[in-house]
Amino acid sequence: MDQSDVGNDIEKILLTSEDLGKKLDEMAARIDEDYAGRDLLLVGVLKGAVMVMADLSRRLHHPIAMDWMAVSSYGSGTKSSGVVRILKDLDTDLTGRNVLIVEDIIDSGLTLSWLVSNLRSRGPASVEIASMLRKPDAAQADVEVKYLGYDIPNEFVVGFGLDYAENYRNLPFVATLAPHVYGG
Ligand code: 5GP
Ligand code: MG
Ligand code: MG
Repeated sequence: MDQSDVGNDIEKILLTSEDLGKKLDEMAARIDEDYAGRDLLLVGVLKGAVMVMADLSRRLHHPIAMDWMAVSSYGSGTKSSGVVRILKDLDTDLTGRNVLIVEDIIDSGLTLSWLVSNLRSRGPASVEIASMLRKPDAAQADVEVKYLGYDIPNEFVVGFGLDYAENYRNLPFVATLAPHVYGG
């Protein structure tokens, strides 16, 4: 897939790399302030949160630990199934830790609300959420996002870690895909 192929697949860029960077600066500043003098463990949700984790963590002045979980709720399609499976669990004991879950996007919120209660049951000092993107349906979910990048419309987006059938995660911006991509 060369650059022109990718360009062909993009319908509309919703957030540029600059938009994302600006918001990450703000989120990092707030996190540094809120966790000053406290231990902090960032928990990234694979694979989508890889870009947010890398770009957010490098903006923090706070010494942090990082761990990863892989859960599955979507398969390769575009609709949440509501069924969450742990594909890879944390290596870290959460007892007494301040946990900040790092996510790419909250749509139905099903994945996160499940994850928050799962992590809370492990005896951490605190569990909060940072997510780069949030869709309108998340309003109905019982998850409170402490650090949010952008609210976006109810469209399927790719880029900045987000995939369609495992492609497009590497795009430095957030975009919708042209219909021909789904058409096969
Ligand atoms: P939720 O459980 O909140 O509905 O969605 C959880 C996961 O679905 C997200 O972490 C993300 O991996 C995936 N997802 C939700 N909306 C989108 C989207 O617009 N594009 C992509 N590529 N993935 C999405
Ligand atoms: Mg995710
Ligand atoms: Mg996906």
